[in-house]
Amino acid sequence: MRQRRISRQIMVGSVPVGGGAPVSVQSMTKTDTRDVRVTVDQVATLTDAGCDIVRLAVPDMEAAEALRRIRVACKTPLIADIHFDHRLAIAALEAGVDGLRLNPGNIRRLEDLYHVVMRARERQIPIRVGVNGGSLPSDYLPALTLPERMVSIAQEQIRVLEDMDFGLIKVSLKASDVLATMDAYQLIAEQSPYPLHLGVTEAGPPMCGAIRNAIGMGVLLHLGIGDTIRVSMSGDPLQEVDAGKEILASLSLRESGPRIVSCPTCGRTELDVPAIAARVSEYVRGISEPLHIAVMGCVVNGPGECRHSDVGIAGGSGRVAVYVGGEFAYSVDEDQAFEALKVEIDRIANAGRTICEDKR
Ligand code: SF4
Repeated sequence: MRQRRISRQIMVGSVPVGGGAPVSVQSMTKTDTRDVRVTVDQVATLTDAGCDIVRLAVPDMEAAEALRRIRVACKTPLIADIHFDHRLAIAALEAGVDGLRLNPGNIRRLEDLYHVVMRARERQIPIRVGVNGGSLPSDYLPALTLPERMVSIAQEQIRVLEDMDFGLIKVSLKASDVLATMDAYQLIAEQSPYPLHLGVTEAGPPMCGAIRNAIGMGVLLHLGIGDTIRVSMSGDPLQEVDAGKEILASLSLRESGPRIVSCPTCGRTELDVPAIAARVSEYVRGISEPLHIAVMGCVVNGPGECRHSDVGIAGGSGRVAVYVGGEFAYSVDEDQAFEALKVEIDRIANAGRTICEDKR
C-alpha cells in the first residue's frame, strides 16, 4: 500500500473526511424521501450495518421539507443530493443536513449558486462537486479523453466555488467505465488538495456492481487515493455497505467488524458450509468487534484456517471441530455447529476483544 494522499479535511457532521481520517463508507437511501417513516427506517438499517454517512435524493420541495423530520429522527450524518434547483439546496441546508452533493454545472445561474454557497458557508456545511462521466455536455472539450474532460469540468466547478470563497469541498468523478474512473481520480489526485469521494457509478446488479467497484476503488485505495467511498449497485443498499466495508477490510484500511472466511466447498465437504456461512454472516451484523470467523468444510484446510481465527469450525465425519482462539476446543454434532459458533461469537464479542488479536 502506498502512503495515503493527505487531502484537506472536511467534516460531514461528526465524520471527518480527508486529512488522513479513516476512509468512511457511504450509501444512499432508495426510498422515496418524502416518505419520512420508511426513509428513517432505511437510514437506521444502513447505520446499524456500518454506514458512516447516508445520502438522500431531494427531487422536489416536499422531499426537502421531509428532510427536517428525517434529520431529527436520525443520528447519522446526512447528505442531500440536489440537481437543477438551488431552492432545494437551500431548503435542505435549512433542514439541517450535514452535506450537499451538487453538480454546480446544472445550477444554471451563478447568483443562484452563490445563495446556496453563502448559506453552506454560514453553516460550515461541505459541498461535494459530483461529476458524472455520463452527463457531460457532448460538446465539452471533445478532443480530450473522458477522464481528462471529467477532471477539467470538476476543476472549473471547484474554481467557481473557490471564487465564492468556499473551500469545504469534496470531489467525485464517477463514470460507469472502471478504467475511466480510475484514470480520472488519479489525475485529480495530482492536481487538487480536496478530499475525494470514490465510486464507480451505474455499476450494475449486486455481483457485477461489487466486482466493478472493488476493482476501481481497490486500485485507487491501494495507491493511497480516496477518502470516502460509496459502492453503487442496483439492489439493496445494505449490500452496498457490506461491499464497501469488505473493500476497506480487504485492504486493511479498516477493521470493520467480523470477517468471515469460508471454504468454497468441494467433493470432500462434510458440512453445509454455504448455509452456515450465510447464517453466521446474518448473525454478526451489528457486531463491531473485528472477529475473525472460519467456516470450513473438512479437515484438509479446516484446522489450518481455524488456527488463524478467533472462532472457527471444521467439518469431519458427522462431527464438527470447534476452534476458539485458534485452538481446538471441542467437537459437536453437525446440527449443533451454528449454535456452537453463536455461543463462542457472543462470548468473544461480549468480552470486547478478540482472542487472536495478539497472534495476528
Ligand atoms: S476445506 Fe475441505 S471441503 Fe472446503 S474446499 Fe477445502 S478441501 Fe474442500
